[in-house]
Amino acid sequence: SAHEGPLRPLRQANKLQNVLYEIRGPVAARAAQLEAEGHRILKLNIGNPAPFGYEAPDTILQDMIAALPTSQGYSDSKGILPARRAVVSRYEEDPEFPPFDVNDVYLGNGVSELISMVQQALLDDGDEVLIPAPDYPLWTAATSLAGGTPVHYLCDEADDWAPSIEDIRSKITTRTKAIVVINPNNPTGAVYPRAVLEELAQVAREHSLLILADEIYDRIIYDDAVHTSIASVAPDLLVITFNGLSKTYRVAGYRSGWLVITGPKAHATGFLEGIELLASTRLCPNVPGQHAIQVAVSGRQSIEDLVLPGGRLIEQRDTAWSLLSAMDGVTCVKPLGALYVFPRLDPEVHEIHDDVRLCLDLLEQERILVVHGTGFNWPTPDHLRVVILPEQRDLQDALERMGNFLASYHQ
Ligand code: PLP
Repeated sequence: SAHEGPLRPLRQANKLQNVLYEIRGPVAARAAQLEAEGHRILKLNIGNPAPFGYEAPDTILQDMIAALPTSQGYSDSKGILPARRAVVSRYEEDPEFPPFDVNDVYLGNGVSELISMVQQALLDDGDEVLIPAPDYPLWTAATSLAGGTPVHYLCDEADDWAPSIEDIRSKITTRTKAIVVINPNNPTGAVYPRAVLEELAQVAREHSLLILADEIYDRIIYDDAVHTSIASVAPDLLVITFNGLSKTYRVAGYRSGWLVITGPKAHATGFLEGIELLASTRLCPNVPGQHAIQVAVSGRQSIEDLVLPGGRLIEQRDTAWSLLSAMDGVTCVKPLGALYVFPRLDPEVHEIHDDVRLCLDLLEQERILVVHGTGFNWPTPDHLRVVILPEQRDLQDALERMGNFLASYHQ
């Protein structure tokens, strides 16, 4: 029979209380509203290469199209074998990366799905995970959603945004289960020197921590920086390394990523069975997206055309960094990797108390969308993240307007 009386209100579940994803939060919602009203918004808020004219290598598209007719069924829960084999080969090219086989590879609907899956398999209520501040905020959100407690360790801007080992050590408790290392880093653009990775590994070793290594930007490297996988300096530890097609291969919309498990496993069979169980409950990742992996990772690394001297990305990085650094009261560590700059607004000059408000005001006045630093779990309202993807002219125009805006901005 029909329901009688008023419908029971549906609140949000309590477990979402600490789950935030500000990159697509209220400021982005306001931008969408302005767009719907017919305004042109320059979106410097999401690391999404395709809308800025970065074409994926044509072979990726062709392979995926060719595979569509045979992609109608579910695949193995871990993902199709040729793609997992290709992931193994990709890491075999790095002689330092610890050996692993196809059974240690899981494919996912982007790295995002795999991050959530691993946290769900790992964490009991109250288990702590060390996560960088600033971070890519999905790590904090996925940890909270899984019942864990995110504990943020500081990356030190004065030390080119390297993780502070001292801060990490001071935050370890008997509940600490894992440490997240994002390298190259989003949002800071830091690429960690080998010595830093060795120190991180040593802390993990001493406290028996699982290492969760998000390396989705590992091939987007500028200047003389060298990316080292933390798994390579911790072959004696259990490390889960995450990567995928969204950035280097510019097909973020295909939702295709992987994780690889390296190091000793005997002490972790329960946890690893948990990952396998959760992989089966999601049945399998999007199958056409899996078909993009083999050709992408075994093809020519066309990302080099963008990041080597003269390439589009490195030139835009230079433009963004130098224009920001020239602004009064703005300083900026030069990014050595990834797709972002994370400038600091000197509190003595700008006195910003609310960085969400700042981003809303910038949006209303200049129609430029950036993300506030506190959206990356940075503790103070004195940073912004700017995406360096737009072509030179647009980027230059946006940053000049941002500079003028900041020069007269007060809260
Ligand atoms: N990890 C980091 C550090 C990212 O910056 C992103 C996307 O911006 C992701 C993970 C998610 O990537 P995917 O598209 O593979 O889900």
